[in-house]
This record gives sequence, structure tokens and C-alpha cells, in this order.
Amino acid sequence: MFSAVTVVTRFAPSPTGELHLGHAYSARIARQRGREAGGRFLLRIEDIDIRRSRREFERAILEDLQWLGLDWDGEVRRQSEHFADYGRALDSLDARGLIYPCFCTRADIAAATDAPHGPDGPLYPGTCRYLPPAERRTRLAAGEEHCLRLDAARAAREAGPYAFTDEMHGRIAGEPLLFGDVVLARKDTPTSYHLAVTVDDHLQGVTLVTRGEDLLPSTHVHGLLQRLLGFATPAYAHHRLLTDAAGRRFAKRDRSLTLRSLRLAGKTPEEVFSLLPKD
Ligand code: GLU
Repeated sequence: MFSAVTVVTRFAPSPTGELHLGHAYSARIARQRGREAGGRFLLRIEDIDIRRSRREFERAILEDLQWLGLDWDGEVRRQSEHFADYGRALDSLDARGLIYPCFCTRADIAAATDAPHGPDGPLYPGTCRYLPPAERRTRLAAGEEHCLRLDAARAAREAGPYAFTDEMHGRIAGEPLLFGDVVLARKDTPTSYHLAVTVDDHLQGVTLVTRGEDLLPSTHVHGLLQRLLGFATPAYAHHRLLTDAAGRRFAKRDRSLTLRSLRLAGKTPEEVFSLLPKD
């Protein structure tokens, strides 16, 4: 028997500012792709950055989406309420020796000038990867601030080859070392973007991840984590990023083209959509 797999998409903004036209474009794609095949379109609030996330931005996000008519299915998932889920994933990686505590400061890392670069800047030089176990224990017991990093080389060996499919670029072979020993739990919050997004897409049954192409490199890490954690790899459709008249990417710091300012200036949702590319 054949059973059609229901498409599940999601829009996953961080409540660190107001939504702008680029978000409307991204949310519209996610909703269209979810609904066109009779599937579901979910909304997730990615508020793990506790210093920068604000409840008032979250409320504004929900209001802006409702105003645009971009309604979502089911409950909103707020990442800060699910630290236990990310903790379980960390425990599973820890049990296999795939993560380690890193006590380095930004300055320590910046000082290692010969570290090769990845998509986000210099890769972590691996200083804490081989700390003697006794020193590691002493520093942990003393409560020294640390993050948790993936031992990428070891993880790559355990995962073996993997791949993911992007609608625009086709099948892409996973590069497990692209971001080096990525942070999976930050010093200030018990998870990281890469871990939380991978766990949530799995727990929410997301089958198609639509998001900006700036996040395509991150998919190499998500694919690796999916392999290590035994999760299915969803399909990906990374879309282009909208730019303003000067060709610059929209950013939260540009206040002029926020959905809120357009609404307050008297624009209708139809007029906002008419500012977006048709595709
Ligand atoms: N929270 C991310 C952002 O606002 C999006 C993450 C994702 O779609 O995977 O840029």
C-alpha cells in the first residue's frame, strides 16, 4: 500500500526584532508549500538567545503574520520551553563521546590566528578537545563557564557519508567538517541554533524546510546531527534573500521596511505582497 506523506513546513523566526519584507517572503513560501499539498504549516519561535529575545517581538511577529493572513496550524512551539528535548539529544551524543566542554573565551579563539576559516569565520582550533580528563573534571567541578562542542572529526567517522537534497541545487554531499567543532550548547543557554533546529524539525515532523539561502551551509551540520541522532533528513528548499533598492539584504536593523511600519503607513496586506517577487 502506498500512503502519501503529508508535507509539513515551518516558519521559524527569532524574536529579536520586528519582521521585515524578507520575512513576509519567507513565511509566504513556507505557508504556500505546506498548504498546496494539503499539508501543515507550523510556526516556531526561536528564542534560545535569552539576552536578545523579547516577548514583545514575539507578540509583534504573531500580529504581523495574522495581519498578512499567513495563519499557521496548531500550537506555536517556543524553543525556550523545550530545553529538556535538546538536553536529551546532548546526552545521547555525550554517551558516545561526541561532545566535549570548551572553556575558551572569544579572545582565546581569536588569538589562534592560523585556524582555517569556515562559513562563520575562523574554525575553532580544537584547544579543549584534548584537555586531560582530570583537568576537564577539575574545571567543570569549579563551575568554570563553558560551552559544549561537537567533536566533528569523530562525529564524521561515526556518521559516515550523508547527503541532503535542496530543490535548487539538487543532491548535496554532506561536509561534516565545514563548521569544525560547532557549538551545540552555548555558555549562556543550554542549546545552540544548530541543535535546536535539528531536534525541533524532527519532533515537529517537518518534511520540507524552506528558509533563506544564507542558511544552506548550516544544513551540512543539521544533516550530520540528523545522522548521529537517528532522525530522518527532511527535504530543503533554500530561497533567495530579498534585497532593498540598494541591493542590500533586509536586516532587522533597517526599520523602514518592517511589516509594522508598512502597516502603520497605511499599506494593506495586498500592497505588501505586491512588493514581493511573484515566485
Ligand atoms: N531562526 C532563524 C532565523 O530567524 C531561522 C532558522 C531556520 O529557518 O532554520 O533566521
